[in-house]
Amino acid sequence: MSTDNELISINPATLEEVGRTAVTTPAELDAKAVAAQSAFQSWRTSRSTRQGLLAACSYELMRQSTAISALLTAEQGKSLTDSSGEVWISARCLAHFARLDWADESQAPASPIRDARIQHRPLGVVAAIVPWNFPIFLMMAKIAPALAAGNTVLVKPAESVSLVVGEVVRILQSILPEGVLDIVYGGPDTGKALIEHAAVRKVSFTGSTGVGKAIMKQAAETITPVTLELGGNDPAILLDSADINYAAGFLAHSAFFNSGQMCIAPKRAYVPADKVDAFCATFEAVMSTMVVGDGAAAGTTVGPLHNSAQLEYVQGLLDKARADGADITGGNRITTLPGYFMEPALVRGVDDSSDIVKFEQFGLAFPVVAYTNVDDVVSLLNSQEFGLGASVWGEQAAAVEVAEQIDAGQVWVNTHNALEVELPFGGVKSSGFGREGGEAGVHDFLETRVVSVKL
Ligand code: NAD
Repeated sequence: MSTDNELISINPATLEEVGRTAVTTPAELDAKAVAAQSAFQSWRTSRSTRQGLLAACSYELMRQSTAISALLTAEQGKSLTDSSGEVWISARCLAHFARLDWADESQAPASPIRDARIQHRPLGVVAAIVPWNFPIFLMMAKIAPALAAGNTVLVKPAESVSLVVGEVVRILQSILPEGVLDIVYGGPDTGKALIEHAAVRKVSFTGSTGVGKAIMKQAAETITPVTLELGGNDPAILLDSADINYAAGFLAHSAFFNSGQMCIAPKRAYVPADKVDAFCATFEAVMSTMVVGDGAAAGTTVGPLHNSAQLEYVQGLLDKARADGADITGGNRITTLPGYFMEPALVRGVDDSSDIVKFEQFGLAFPVVAYTNVDDVVSLLNSQEFGLGASVWGEQAAAVEVAEQIDAGQVWVNTHNALEVELPFGGVKSSGFGREGGEAGVHDFLETRVVSVKL
């Protein structure tokens, strides 16, 4: 197990050690922050230079994709196909911000008493704190726009994925000027020390809502602005007009992508009561085709959960649902394999009072709730804590009408998990604030100044 000085990465499929990383000392953190502050002065000066280097980073990441994907699978657990998909979308994110155009400056509305210009300027050193579920992409969704905007960045990965994030940072550092991008390793104490460092002018965090609240309080000490990409409990709402087979098949794949450990995965379905049987039959048929195993093995489609705490948590939700009378297909722990494995589970006979519906599972369990009135479903969802994503399935115009009523950062119609780096991404309510992706992603790392000249 990890110590105060060393992080030990464990393969979640084999429980074997993948490697070790030294925890960054306070003195090292201070030196890296000072170097990032100093590098900011020249990095901020030329957007075209920055974007050229980010394009080169994108290319180099893809060139080294095979080795990075293998390390990601060993350390995080996802299948090799999903690992190479994560590397690909990370390279795509770099490419998007390498070619994005935005206005640095605009003329203020005319006035007879002054001539004013509105300017958008980089902030300085950015702290990017990221979780373990998509460790490369969620880092890239921060560092690509932050660097494009002219900031320098210090990344703190989740402890359990330090090796692969460190390797990707090394690839980018081989192209970027010294001090522009660096990494600090460690747990919450390292994260806290980073946030509170005097050189840090912005914190961008992705992770759980509980830690997001702690980070907001820590950043308050130094009045450092924060972006928070937090948890979600995304609903999929099927209307009477939905193509039940299509929706059930699509949702089974989306719900269990990355072993369900995805903030915007569908985490519950609301299905018209008379269509629940048909929905579950298709969902179960698709579920039965999934191959659970070591992500490195050919043919694996569903890897292990990332750690024992996550496995215990999901199993606990299933045990509680079972004790409360739910009807569960699958969900057993797989004890013939050494790692954190379980069968995907479909849960029916539950409602909005069940823990497995109320709480984000972040694992291989998907509850189905029967409903009779869609307006009641929308009112209930809008009264709840999270607002990250949602999807509505059915005849397009009717589905769009329902989608427009849902309070969430992204609402999909007849699809789910459709993440695009070209579009702004983020949550509302307890799912956070601030946006990544699109042009909004770059504005999250800029501050506005007005220069006004008296006439
Ligand atoms: P986590 O909140 O436990 O940890 C995330 C990061 O914060 C890690 O690097 C951790 O070391 C660091 N950290 C923990 N305490 C800290 C502190 N006090 N100060 C500074 N840093 C601290 O999250 P996790 O378990 O790694 O990830 C799972 C959660 O992330 C889920 O809730 C999921 O929904 C959420 N998530 C959200 C998004 C999104 O874009 N909205 C994306 C992926 C995951």
